[in-house]
Amino acid sequence: MPDGPRRRCWPEVLAAAERTAAALADAGIGRGRSVGTLLWNEHAHLDLALAAPMAGAALHPANPRLSDADLEWTIRAAGDRIVVFDAEFETRVRDLAARLPEVERWIRVGDGTFGESWAAFVEGAPSSFDAPSIDENDPMAICFTSGTTGHPKEVVYTHRSSYVHTLGLALTDTMHLSGTDTALAVVPIFHAISWGLPYAAAMLGSRLVLPHRRTAPEDLLDLIDSESVTVAVGVPVVWAGVMQAVLRDPRRWRCRHLRRVVCGGGAPNLEMIEFFRVKFGAELIHSWGMTEINPVGTMGRHAATPEEAALEPVEAQAIALKAGRPLPMLEVEIVDEAGSVLPHDDEAAGSLVVRGPTVRGGFAADDPESLPGGWMRTGDVASIDDRGRVTIRDREKDLIRSGSEWISSLALERLIGAMPEVALVAVVARPDPKWEERPVAVVELARGASLDLETLRTRLAATLPKWQLPDDLLVREIPLTGTGKMDKRALRESLA
Ligand code: ADP
Repeated sequence: MPDGPRRRCWPEVLAAAERTAAALADAGIGRGRSVGTLLWNEHAHLDLALAAPMAGAALHPANPRLSDADLEWTIRAAGDRIVVFDAEFETRVRDLAARLPEVERWIRVGDGTFGESWAAFVEGAPSSFDAPSIDENDPMAICFTSGTTGHPKEVVYTHRSSYVHTLGLALTDTMHLSGTDTALAVVPIFHAISWGLPYAAAMLGSRLVLPHRRTAPEDLLDLIDSESVTVAVGVPVVWAGVMQAVLRDPRRWRCRHLRRVVCGGGAPNLEMIEFFRVKFGAELIHSWGMTEINPVGTMGRHAATPEEAALEPVEAQAIALKAGRPLPMLEVEIVDEAGSVLPHDDEAAGSLVVRGPTVRGGFAADDPESLPGGWMRTGDVASIDDRGRVTIRDREKDLIRSGSEWISSLALERLIGAMPEVALVAVVARPDPKWEERPVAVVELARGASLDLETLRTRLAATLPKWQLPDDLLVREIPLTGTGKMDKRALRESLA
């Protein structure tokens, strides 16, 4: 918390959550209603993540990194009648409140002048709470994708979907979360409820570390050390930053207890995987997912079969780069443009489709993502190997069309990202009069490093055909999306 660490044990959290549920119910936030939040990863947010579903209502963790217009739109679309906000956002919330008369109560966590006090809201609640009867298909959360075109898309999580997802996270060959773990939730609760980590930690009794707004690499490393974190969960941009911080100051942190780093929402590169293995003895578990599937889809423990356990580290690297196998309740398949299933030979790349209880329901027949048989198009291109491991090749919209061929931006990012000079890289398409599109590498350099286009192209030419090499190298800051991923759409637009 801004005024220093605050610790609670799970029974205290449960009591607080029950009290919060009673407060919500008292305020009319029960079945069919939602409570919005504008909070970092902190105690009140955890209480609400547990309390809203207890009260039969849905949590809508709004993303403070969205534009004002999108934030207003998501709160209205979710139908929130109460919004709980961090005092830090007070000025913004004043404006929002003026534009959102349908929100009846604004409740402030922390000191300020606008809205009601969170402490008073919870303290004024009845001390006993009678949980309503809840159907497993009732909503328990409303999340929004960041929306690459137009408005963010609303995704409803049901109790059933989240229950199944929570069990999936705790499996040995997925995240291997246990009651012995101390889990650091870097991924925000407003990003698909911290990928379900608060629920899995609550189910198992794992220690859960919530970094509030302090997610700079140095702050995270300090937390990993001071709280003896065993498993840390976040997007690749976060882990790239952590890696650079350690490279700049190699003796400052020991990360002595760190065993697993879950890296999802984007693709890690080999250098990152090796860095965590060699420097801290930690396994970087590569995960693929999307908001629409609650959100974890696949996880790639390095060794989930006897055959994998017997591999030498170098052979295991190829597996670590893959996004792993689907959680047990999720089916994955790859299909061509006609919808025919492609072979699982690690080579054939097709449109990745998914089906199962965690996939968002309620498709309209004309929903562009809906396919016959209950399958949902993910918008990603993938291949699958003969052991069921998925490799994400690219997002359909990030592929670069050069002449009549496709170039994978992810494949280029993997290779460039593994170069020691590079801290972060995004490869995006630039319109080209002759080829339609050509790849451009946008790079943030490691401190003190330099890199020119010719060196980059020469190194890449060792593994890639010439037509796939970037035409340009731009050294500049890479913008991030509301969920802390590289904003390749913004980059593309800036190059167009
Ligand atoms: P957004 O689409 O706004 O980023 P999500 O957080 O739901 O919102 O992101 C889902 C998308 O992120 C996936 O469809 C995929 O394109 C990308 N993604 C997630 N995990 C991975 C991964 N391990 N490798 C590559 N891309 C990934």
